[in-house]
Amino acid sequence: MRRLSLLVALCATAALTATAATARAPHPKAAADLPLVGRTIVIDPGHNGANYAHPDEINRQVPAGGFKKACDTTGTATNDGTLSESAFTWDMAKRLRRLLKRAGAIVVLTRHNDHGVGPCINKRAAIGNRANADVAVSLHADGGPPSGHGFHVIRPGVVKGYTEPIVKRSKTLSTDIRDALLDAGLDTSTYLGRRGIDVRTDMGGINLSHIPKVILETGNMRNAADARRLERKRWRERTAVALRDALTKYLAR
Ligand code: ZN
Repeated sequence: MRRLSLLVALCATAALTATAATARAPHPKAAADLPLVGRTIVIDPGHNGANYAHPDEINRQVPAGGFKKACDTTGTATNDGTLSESAFTWDMAKRLRRLLKRAGAIVVLTRHNDHGVGPCINKRAAIGNRANADVAVSLHADGGPPSGHGFHVIRPGVVKGYTEPIVKRSKTLSTDIRDALLDAGLDTSTYLGRRGIDVRTDMGGINLSHIPKVILETGNMRNAADARRLERKRWRERTAVALRDALTKYLAR
């Protein structure tokens, strides 16, 4: 906010001294620094820290796009139990929120801490729909086979009456995210998807979304090398920067 008001002040000063013609032109520095002004982005950090203690609420069946599914799950954790998926996704969401806001975006999170329960997958989709956001990204980390490593992006396949309006744009979003993560040095999954992308029709959180949405499985928490990366703050920040860049590229199309 402070940075933004400083920019506005600088622009105002420039306008006073500029000619009428140049004063009408947009401030080039402001435009370049704030590429996401006017954009609303939903970040959906998977699971929640107290899900494990509330099985009745979490196992409750909710609409998932023509069928029903459990409200949520507890999520996974590293083998030594020191890092839970919900804590990881919460930290990543905060990093990404900071970067996106700095670029001018309005950011909506589907949960506001890591010690609550839910929300259910249908509510997570509804939050994005209600915000009339441009795009949504769900952040997760996988509990895959211990020998497998790497990230994959889950995009919606066609679910008649549900996902048709978002399939095409979500596909573009998935490739933009995959490419940015590859550029940042991450490896695509060795155990799921094709070149880092998996198409699914059983994910309620994307089936019920009216806005383009994908789920990122950032790495495999059950794989020792991935677990070490997921725990590293610098790795998380680099990954969040890549996600910001991918969203910026996607929204500029
Ligand atoms: Zn998950």
